[in-house]
Amino acid sequence: MKLIYERSVKGRKGYSLPPDEFEEINICDMIPEYAISKEKKNLPEVSEVDVVRHFTNLSRLNYGVDTGFYPLGSCTMKYNPKINEKLSTLDSFMYAHPCSDTKLVQGSLEVMYELEQYLKEITGMERFALSPSAGAHGELTGVLIMRKYFEDKGEKRHKMIIPDSAHGTNPASSAMAGFEVVEVRSNGRGTIDIEHLSSLMDEDTAGIMITNPNTVGLFEEEILSICKIIHDKGGLVYYDGANLNALLGIVRPADTGVDIVHLNLHKTFSTPHGGGGPGAGAVGVKKHLEEFLPAPLVSECNGVYCFEFPRKSIGRMRAFSGNFPVLLKAYAWILSVGREGLRNVSQASIINANYILARLKPYYRPSYDRFCMHECVLTGRDYKEYGVKTLDIAKRLMDYGFHPPTIYFPHFAPFAQETMMVEPTESESKDTIDEFIDTMIKITEEAKEFPDILRSAPHNTPVRRLDEARAARVPILKLEEK
Ligand SMILES: *Cc1c(COP(=O)(O)O)cnc(C)c1O
Repeated sequence: MKLIYERSVKGRKGYSLPPDEFEEINICDMIPEYAISKEKKNLPEVSEVDVVRHFTNLSRLNYGVDTGFYPLGSCTMKYNPKINEKLSTLDSFMYAHPCSDTKLVQGSLEVMYELEQYLKEITGMERFALSPSAGAHGELTGVLIMRKYFEDKGEKRHKMIIPDSAHGTNPASSAMAGFEVVEVRSNGRGTIDIEHLSSLMDEDTAGIMITNPNTVGLFEEEILSICKIIHDKGGLVYYDGANLNALLGIVRPADTGVDIVHLNLHKTFSTPHGGGGPGAGAVGVKKHLEEFLPAPLVSECNGVYCFEFPRKSIGRMRAFSGNFPVLLKAYAWILSVGREGLRNVSQASIINANYILARLKPYYRPSYDRFCMHECVLTGRDYKEYGVKTLDIAKRLMDYGFHPPTIYFPHFAPFAQETMMVEPTESESKDTIDEFIDTMIKITEEAKEFPDILRSAPHNTPVRRLDEARAARVPILKLEEK
């Protein structure tokens, strides 16, 4: 396949215009000097069909949820109904100016207000700020709220406890908010080591950032004790709710004792996720933290919707009200799925993950041999004796048309070698999941008989095996000739 620059032919055009009637006018005379480009741009000269084929072919090189199964652990790569994309681009929403008088955009405000009510009901929290634009952004918002809360109380707390299994953004957000990160160990069951936590928690510590189900797909069964240990020393519990896909309608985070949550609306609530697109990391708090939320919030004032600026707000986390279309999609999705539906989503995603775990367990020894939540951790460690790594297994999956699961995470436990984290989500049918499982089993046979095929996989993809470290540092942007 050629680059579009290689297809360029001098003088070839993708348009034809009627003859120029204003030949005597020099267009450059009408443009201010500073706006006129001095150097000639190197743009490809191609026909319309060249452009169409170029972009259509590029789009077909990509793999996405719309092309096949995408069980990337800790990412919730699920199908997002297309109708919600359509709703989020309705003219009346899309062309509403963020500086409009609130009288003119009551509908948009109502959507935000109602969405907040639903998120409150789903999580049990008291109040939500919708403006943070990503999971990590929600975390930063949350830890800034913690900082402000202690400042306001006149307490100096400079440490934050984070489990060794945490998503990398947790320590990063804490450090950005000026906290020193203290790591708490996992126990042999993959959850937080309670004794270690007790020994770490003190009055210099602001609290803990916790993920539940944690990043290896296990429910922190001792969440009540964890919250008690933190609260007894005056600390706060931050709950990273990026993985709410497992809890909808089953567990309300607020009931487990946490003080602050963020939800990734772009994982669980109908915005396609990945590739760095727009997201929303709504942050919810309990009563005692409401006044610290970032501005603006949406409230009801005398029968109309209005913006509210909390009294001791940490300020604005971004311009205006955040990524409004993402909020709109979440709202539409919650309404269309409904109360029972939300619960079904989580039940189906948990059953799907446990089904994969149960069927693949004899072939890929799991890190934790227990029920999982919405994702499971398997290992390829038994194939090392054939000279096959988990990386090779993941690459071979691509030959069969599946996106590989997350690999080499978790990496913090001694029995967590050659790990793969599989998150099927609720969107997949049993047929698709069975095909995936059968392929995974077939690959174990290949590993024993033809390890070379695995070591050189993938064979059927636009690009073959990449040296990933080198690919990131010295990218080659031209494709191999087929
Ligand atoms: C995805 C994820 C995040 C980060 O979310 P972004 O929107 O990518 O910033 C944080 N925590 C957990 C547990 C996650 O899975």
